[in-house]
Amino acid sequence: MLEAGGADWIHIDVMDGRFVPNLTFGAKIIESVRKLTELPLDVHLMVVEPENYFDDFAAAGANGMSIHTEVSPHLQRQLSRIRELGCRAGAVVNPATPLTAVREVIPDMDLLLVMTVNPGFGGQRYIATMEPKIAEVRRMITESGYDVDIEVDGGISAATVGGAVRAGANVLVAGSALYRHPDGLAAAISELRAAASTEPR
Ligand code: ZN
Repeated sequence: MLEAGGADWIHIDVMDGRFVPNLTFGAKIIESVRKLTELPLDVHLMVVEPENYFDDFAAAGANGMSIHTEVSPHLQRQLSRIRELGCRAGAVVNPATPLTAVREVIPDMDLLLVMTVNPGFGGQRYIATMEPKIAEVRRMITESGYDVDIEVDGGISAATVGGAVRAGANVLVAGSALYRHPDGLAAAISELRAAASTEPR
């Protein structure tokens, strides 16, 4: 359905009931999704000790894995390991986490995910005060000269996506805005895409 609806990637939220209160799913589900689509699978690991899952998720068909800086004391080594497994490496910062947590490892990442809600549940409200942080990330990446995607996740909808894109985000994760849209996924995805490509203010 997502593929037919025009999604570019499929973002998969893995939760362990420890880093975040909810439990979602593991490698088995990734494996099943892999069989259904050619779309890149962007796996967001909301788990403690994420390195314990890298091999299984890579083998299951993940194209990218993103790990939380808050639980990754050896971030440089962990990101390098994800790349060694042939996946794109992503680092994630929660709303309260400062960018000093990732500044030194920009060369080791393909994606930097700025959370626009506190992770753990779907359907939360977009935290608009994260936009200056997204803009700072964009400056940081541009100055570094590395090719790093800036992803936003949490509360992204046609109403909020413009602000995130203007601040500098180029990968947009949406859940509720797509799945709860009254006109279905395809309509929701084109509406989001249109809202994301509006001219900068
Ligand atoms: Zn996510």
